[in-house]
Amino acid sequence: MKKAEIISVGTELLMGQVANTDAQFISALLPGAGFGVYYHTVVGDNKDRLAQCFKKALERSDLVVLTGGLGPTEDDLTKNTVAEALGLKLVIDEETVKDLENYFARSGRKMSSSNMSQAYFPEGAAILKNKCGTAPGCMINKSVNGISKIVVLLPGPPSELKPMFEDEVLPVLEKDAEEVLKSKFFDIIGVPESEVESRLSDIISGRTNPTAATYVKEGIVTVRVSACGTSDTASALIEKDAEVIRERFGKNLAGENGQSLQETVVRLCEKHKLSVASAESCTGGMISELITSVPGASNVIRSSVVVYSNEAKINILGVDPELINKYGVVSEQTALAMAERTAVLCGSDIGVSTTGNAGPGTLENKPAGLVYVGLYFRGKTAVKECLIRGSREHIRRRVSNTALNMVREAVLGIGEDNDR
Ligand code: ATP
Ligand code: MG
Repeated sequence: MKKAEIISVGTELLMGQVANTDAQFISALLPGAGFGVYYHTVVGDNKDRLAQCFKKALERSDLVVLTGGLGPTEDDLTKNTVAEALGLKLVIDEETVKDLENYFARSGRKMSSSNMSQAYFPEGAAILKNKCGTAPGCMINKSVNGISKIVVLLPGPPSELKPMFEDEVLPVLEKDAEEVLKSKFFDIIGVPESEVESRLSDIISGRTNPTAATYVKEGIVTVRVSACGTSDTASALIEKDAEVIRERFGKNLAGENGQSLQETVVRLCEKHKLSVASAESCTGGMISELITSVPGASNVIRSSVVVYSNEAKINILGVDPELINKYGVVSEQTALAMAERTAVLCGSDIGVSTTGNAGPGTLENKPAGLVYVGLYFRGKTAVKECLIRGSREHIRRRVSNTALNMVREAVLGIGEDNDR
């Protein structure tokens, strides 16, 4: 595969004020268009240092993508520096001038002379229109010491960079790609990472194409399968492994290829015409937040309750105070009562609940990280005890995933085998 690298320009990145999400975004997509990413560089708004980084990048890579520093301000020096290093003049692009004039006329603002700098590009560059802002990007093909190089300049703001890269840069790169690296992702829940690895040892160990690897986040183990080749051969190689993973993990497969657990849950509930309500204590609404983040959630969720204090659990949800007194608020019994009560109160088929101690410190002599997740589904109930180590945030996220997975499992219980 050809070699690519990314240079992100901006002192705010070096200072830790802004995370370099642009490089992350671009890196995830370049291998699919035939470029292996070998280096990420971050450099401040400094002409000499940027020129140094850019010259180094040109020597060792076929494609150099620069992000940031395209705007109209004093510290936006990417275009000048790149043009100088490539020995190209900056020339005005009349169409961009018109676009800028229209943009300012429409927004009723006056265009300053510095805005005009955005209409200058290295000669011969293909202009990349900015649908979400004013600074266009550009793409330059240039032979350096007899080797053809591609240089791409993109604006820093992610909301401008992402559509420009996906719509205007990737298709051009993909067109010429002979060999690509494709990846597919499989999210497995309810199986520890070590077990996933050992059950997939034949596809994980000792292979070079395709390759498979695992990583874990918030209780979900992701298996990545990657393959090299033409677009079709890479896809076929991945599909063989995909079959193996689906066969071995069936109902533990929470989502494929970026489909999140919450999306899987919403799609499943939609398919079976089921509604969900949560009653959340330590997760404070996170389960509902995850469900409602999925387009189409209104088919599945109508209402939910956040009941943090004991009084709220009793007065709003109608949990029996005697039960809380007897078993404690952090208990299986309270979780089950909450799940049932929220299903009744919200008129939904499924009720899911959380009650526990998200830490730090103990509660009712219960350790931090001890949480009960309750589930009610048409008269049937289930409860899970979780003991999770880590920060408050980590505990809350893992518990929310556990709750969503219990909903998923309950719905699957009424579906066919391996139904997702
Ligand atoms: P503008 O026209 O907005 O000035 P620009 O191309 O000049 O665009 P910068 O001035 O470098 O871009 O950055 C503008 C903002 O974009 C930054 O303040 C930051 O919030 C965001 N940004 C810049 N670079 C990155 C990056 N690599 N990753 C994520 N966000 C970034
Ligand atoms: Mg700027």
